[in-house]
Amino acid sequence: MTPLDIEIVPCLSDNYAYLLHDRESGLCAVVDPSEAPPVKLALARRGWKLSHILNTHHHFDHTGGNLPLKEEFGCEIVGPGKDRARFEGLDTGVDEATGWRFGVRDVRVLEIPAHTSSHIAFVLDGAAFTGDTLFAMGCGRLFEGTPAMMWSSLSKLMTLPDDTRVYCGHEYTQSNGRFALTLEPGNAAHAARMHEVDAMRAKGQPTIPSTMGLEKRTNPFLRPMSAELRKTLGMENASDVEVLGETRRRKDNF
Ligand SMILES: [Zn+2]
Ligand SMILES: [Zn+2]
Repeated sequence: MTPLDIEIVPCLSDNYAYLLHDRESGLCAVVDPSEAPPVKLALARRGWKLSHILNTHHHFDHTGGNLPLKEEFGCEIVGPGKDRARFEGLDTGVDEATGWRFGVRDVRVLEIPAHTSSHIAFVLDGAAFTGDTLFAMGCGRLFEGTPAMMWSSLSKLMTLPDDTRVYCGHEYTQSNGRFALTLEPGNAAHAARMHEVDAMRAKGQPTIPSTMGLEKRTNPFLRPMSAELRKTLGMENASDVEVLGETRRRKDNF
């Protein structure tokens, strides 16, 4: 099977939508279209026709393009089946048990609540679309969940193979990385990564995709077990959930 073409589409001020194009079938999905115009431009440039919209969660900066794109392309909207009320125009509700199929491809759906109560990730072709749950070097705010829920959701993502490419909802990597550095100043993998991130951002390039392996080494929200991080927080004997909660609280005030 030919790998999917994946195109990053910057939207609004710091959102990313993603086009997934299957050359064999011609199917083309967009993940989390914040707004329609940049998605339409990217489609036109490539000569692709939109067949599906995939939503990780209901926030407007991830769904704002849904209805105008559906009107123009007659595409099918796919999102969390347990939360239909918050997805206007949703055609196909999916969850972890149902999964989904994109043409001939099996798509894993992971339920990863905490940023919102019905947040999901789509995993296919060695790529995970993690919305606002897992960011490069960060995680989403706990709008509708607890630290325990976020730790459970992140732990689920951590079971994906290390070479899984991570496509997240926002370009927050540089500020996330600066915060991470305050917690683990001795983490050499982190310093090396920030060097690359700063160079990419200086050229205006996205820092996406990351990989699960890189996130495990450099993302403080996947590292509540880190001795250095715990020492910084003064929480050597706390549980992973307590450490994650404190890390999130500090990031909210960073
Ligand atoms: Zn969100
Ligand atoms: Zn967002």
